[in-house]
Amino acid sequence: MIIKNAEHEITAVKPNQYPVTGFPEVAFVGRSNVGKSSIINTLLNRKNLARVGQTPGKTRQINFFAVNGNFYLVDLPGYGFANVSKEMKASWEKIIETYLYSRRQNQLKLVVMLVDIRHSPSKDDIVMYQWIKGYGMNSIIVATKADKITRSQINIRLNDIRKVLQLDKSTKIIPFSSEKRTGREEVLEEIGRSLFG
Ligand code: GDP
Repeated sequence: MIIKNAEHEITAVKPNQYPVTGFPEVAFVGRSNVGKSSIINTLLNRKNLARVGQTPGKTRQINFFAVNGNFYLVDLPGYGFANVSKEMKASWEKIIETYLYSRRQNQLKLVVMLVDIRHSPSKDDIVMYQWIKGYGMNSIIVATKADKITRSQINIRLNDIRKVLQLDKSTKIIPFSSEKRTGREEVLEEIGRSLFG
């Protein structure tokens, strides 16, 4: 898929603030600091569209990026911040779950779940993946920061992630690096396929 243009359309918290165009959506989820803003910028060929390195207080929102005038990349709040209150955690969960629930039947075509290739998925990641499956969503896993490990470690790490998340055989897991732009074409291809067949 070729990215012709991309723009930030709206920041939302509640469903009545989501776009009403009916365009299909691809949502990105993952722990804070996993590289979510970086992958969105890399996919869209933009340096700073999704802000990199946001602070916890500012990220409890959903950002919709309109791409090629016919679909959205949706940046969901990062989860798993250390040292946040129970209330804050619950509010993130509600924002993410409400989004998945509202969009599951029509707009939402693919959930891209990000995990850091260097680490085994956390409890939060496991819960997140179970939600995605529970809602019957089409998903792929992207293992970020692949430039931080050696080539020979990549398959070992992917197998570990696959095992911990208990991925189905059919679920793709793609190593990705925003630094080196590796995995970009493959992720775009999956997005294109999920959106337009
Ligand atoms: P977010 O909190 O998930 O949006 O994560 P960011 O995109 O802000 O990235 C968090 C940190 O990881 C930043 O310092 C990025 O520069 C770094 N980072 C993100 N992706 C990569 C990558 O592919 N390779 C390397 N080496 N660093 C990355």
